[in-house]
Formats: sequence, C-alpha cells, structure tokens
Amino acid sequence: MNQLIRCIDCGQIFFKTPFDQCPEYSFPTKRSPGSFWATEKDDFQDFLKDHGKHHLEELKVIEDSFMSERDYLEPVKTSYFKATNGEEQFVIKKFREKIGQPLKYQLINGDLSLRCTAIKTQSKEIAKLLEKEFKTRPISQIKIAAFLKLYRHIAGTIDPGHLERVPEESSKSLEIYYKLDDTGVSYLLDRCHQLFRGQEYSDIQAFIYRHKDEGVLLLKGIYKIQITEGKASIPRMAVASPL
Ligand SMILES: [Zn+2]
Repeated sequence: MNQLIRCIDCGQIFFKTPFDQCPEYSFPTKRSPGSFWATEKDDFQDFLKDHGKHHLEELKVIEDSFMSERDYLEPVKTSYFKATNGEEQFVIKKFREKIGQPLKYQLINGDLSLRCTAIKTQSKEIAKLLEKEFKTRPISQIKIAAFLKLYRHIAGTIDPGHLERVPEESSKSLEIYYKLDDTGVSYLLDRCHQLFRGQEYSDIQAFIYRHKDEGVLLLKGIYKIQITEGKASIPRMAVASPL
C-alpha cells in the first residue's frame, strides 16, 4: 500500500510504494551483450538511514486536491496536492526534473488554491466558423471583427463564479471551459442588434444558439496555481488514500 511519510524534524517527505524494494536492472552494454544484472535497492531503507531516529508520521492525501501546471499525461511536470496529519494541512509538491529521474516530493507549509487570471474567448475559432457557416450570405470582415470585440468585452466583465462549467472539454488542468449564462446571451443578442439587421441578425442569433452550449462560443477560464505559505486550517473533507 502507498504511504506518504513526513519527517517532522526535517520536513522531508517520502512516498512509500510497493516498488521501493524492486531491484534496479542494468541492461546489456556493447561490451557484454546478452547479460544484465540486478542491484538490490530499497529507497525506504535509505530514507530510514537518515530519518529513522527522527519523529515520523503518516499523512493522508486530501481528496480532489490534485493540481498540475501541465497536461496530466506529460511525464515532466510539477503537480501539487494537499495532505494532512489530522491537525495541520500541508501542500505537497511532486515533481520530476528530467525523464527517467525519480519523482521528488517537497513539503510546503501552506494552502493551495486556483486563481482565475483571465476569461478568454476562442476568437480565431469563432471567426473561422462564421466564415464557414455563412458562405451563402457572408458577413463582412468588419462585422466579424466587431462581433469578436463585443464577445471579448462580455467575457472580460464576467465573473466565472456564476458560470456553468463544461466538464472534460480541456485536457489542460489549468484551463476550464464555461457556458455563457442566460444573462450573458441576452446581453450579447441585444448588442448584436446594433451590428446586424434583418436576415443577418436572424442568422447570427441562430449561430449563437447553435454554439453557446458547446464548441466555439464557450469561454475559456485561465487559472494559476496559488500557494499561500503559512499555517493552513484543515477543511472538513474526507481524506483519500495516497495517490
Ligand atoms: Zn529527518
């Protein structure tokens, strides 16, 4: 079973897995083809050599607290999660400097949160789709630019806290897609009256309704991982077994 061990005296973290005792294999070289050898290896015993006489405790990972700066599947990245000993909460930084190197864990006294730095529109994609869907009755480039400017303006004034998140739209953990809410849609349509008339307005209205819940009209929230150093209170949350 996986265990997250903290040395209270040194602030070091060790992530104990069943693989710590696997022998390390050296593969054939040109000099001695066909042969390989195993070196007995126990990373946890190495940790205990330095910290065995110190005060150690097990930390529990706080459920759903995992955050990563890059795509989940990238091998070289820095991730963070929260852990607790039941009294204090910590942030654990998990990182690997190069492919092939072991994962490292660092304990930070503090709290972890996500901060929204911007709400963006998918301007290029919207422009492309407007051109594609309005082939028979094309909209002028000036009007497309005005529509994009209007949409960016709405995105810039919106509070993501009130928006509905679209699950699984992004593979990047720091990008979250949202639907424009009904108030936003009404405001957008109202302002479109100043840009489009008659059939053109009906076309753009249909375009908005077609794409507001998925695809190009989704708003993209850009988030940043924020670590607040200092003592953090423990949230009343269930704890999960270590990752
Ligand atoms: Zn120690």
